[in-house]
Amino acid sequence: MDTVYRVTHLIDGAWTDDDAADKRVNPADPADVVVEVSAGTPELVDAAVNAAAVAQEVWAGMTGPARGAVLSRSAQLIRDRVDQIARDLTREEGKTLPEAIGEVRRAADILDFFGAECWRSHGSTFPSGVPDTHVFTRREPLGVVGLITPWNFPIAIPTWKAAPALAAGNAVVMKPAQLTTVSTMHLANALIDAGLPPGVFTLVHGRGSVVGNAIVKHHLVKAVSFTGSNPVGREIGELAASRGIRSQLEMGGKNPVVVLDDADPERAADIIAAGAFGLTGQACTATSRVICTPGIHDAVADALAKRAAAYAPGNGLREGVKMGPVVSESQLATDQGYVAAAVSEGATLVTGGTTDGLHFAPTVLTDVAPSHRVAREEVFGPVVGLLRANDEDHAIELANDTEFGLSAGLITQRLQSVAKFVERIQAGVVKVNRPTGGVDLNVPFGGVKESSNNAYREQGSQALDFYSWTKSVYVGLD
Ligand code: NAP
Ligand code: MG
Repeated sequence: MDTVYRVTHLIDGAWTDDDAADKRVNPADPADVVVEVSAGTPELVDAAVNAAAVAQEVWAGMTGPARGAVLSRSAQLIRDRVDQIARDLTREEGKTLPEAIGEVRRAADILDFFGAECWRSHGSTFPSGVPDTHVFTRREPLGVVGLITPWNFPIAIPTWKAAPALAAGNAVVMKPAQLTTVSTMHLANALIDAGLPPGVFTLVHGRGSVVGNAIVKHHLVKAVSFTGSNPVGREIGELAASRGIRSQLEMGGKNPVVVLDDADPERAADIIAAGAFGLTGQACTATSRVICTPGIHDAVADALAKRAAAYAPGNGLREGVKMGPVVSESQLATDQGYVAAAVSEGATLVTGGTTDGLHFAPTVLTDVAPSHRVAREEVFGPVVGLLRANDEDHAIELANDTEFGLSAGLITQRLQSVAKFVERIQAGVVKVNRPTGGVDLNVPFGGVKESSNNAYREQGSQALDFYSWTKSVYVGLD
């Protein structure tokens, strides 16, 4: 029997002992109760933020290398615990165990990366126009930062926000998605066990509209980094702007892959299937539109339909299962709704569209028109639609015909086509002959257009920019 966790809030370095409010079961197996979790209030947020503000001064007062050592130790603890954390991640989110292991290892690597960043100065020196004057800049922490995270990468996203925030000397108040609280509990335990001072990393669980809202509104919260859906992101952005604080909003995608006539359709299908059906299509960078030039369209459609069979959904804990269930009943209804709408608008259902519990079959649609809802709105499931382009220029036009701009792919061996695509495509991430999903942790990441407020990038050293401000110092030496 697996553990039934009891997850409460982490405030001032201690887990609270309030009552359980919500229960989460394994989406692949409703009999497997994963966790009972507390529901936070604005009062608890206030207590958490106040404690964090005190703790932040202690943390920022430590040397960079001392802070880095805590992050590096937490990375090692997460690696030591990978089997347990990954199993729990699969139980609460649904992705397959190999996908979960990859995500947990990614979290450890991110902590190592930012542990090392703590050793760097991140300031500059300048020649002054005034004689005998020494000029330099320092990065200063913002104070307490609010982090609001989605369920689809329940340990990687909390880590890729918390690690740079902590490296820069901030304290964190985090509200994870209600669906996935155990993974962030494991992150918190690794940080605590690594010696993070009490109160520097804080968790308040509960409804986004209550707890998330209270975090964004709190007068001691100096910045909010959010990943999630567009309507929620917009609301948080407006609230943050009304308070005059920074916000970093990373939101939805409608990621295209353009396949040109010269491509190998079998290889193209492998790349598209990995992007569309990997992680059950529940990734912001998942492939959702495939745009083919005329000479290759039918071959790609056939090959992709065959690949779908290899992604038969099942319990992610079982060996050999390549695709887990969708995360919830409401996500299932969304996926089914988009497939039904596509068919009623004139698309052809080639394969998929069926479900067994939350095990939704990978779905391929052809004859999708740019006006169809399935071509315009984010589905967030294993659903991919093929659109026909007249030629290469038209394909790029169709790829850009979306309000989103997160990741975009191109499959070709033609160098000139690569150059043209890279220049014209409106996307924060461009992938040539690689799946739209999957990024390196040391490379800036984020979207354009409605996918992001596009003020700051996440990941890599650039992530530190959001979590710090620059102080310019002039020292007269005479
Ligand atoms: P969501 O519904 O927007 O929720 C994200 C987080 O915001 C959750 O913790 C949620 O709490 C909280 N929230 C909800 N309403 C709020 C409010 N009024 N004020 C403050 N916080 C609030 O997104 P999701 O369903 O968890 O995740 C799927 C979405 O995330 C997709 O659109 C996907 O594209 C996007 N995503 C983007 C990226 C990226 O890097 N661009 C990466 C991954 C996912 P609850 O627990 O109450 O829901
Ligand atoms: Mg949601």
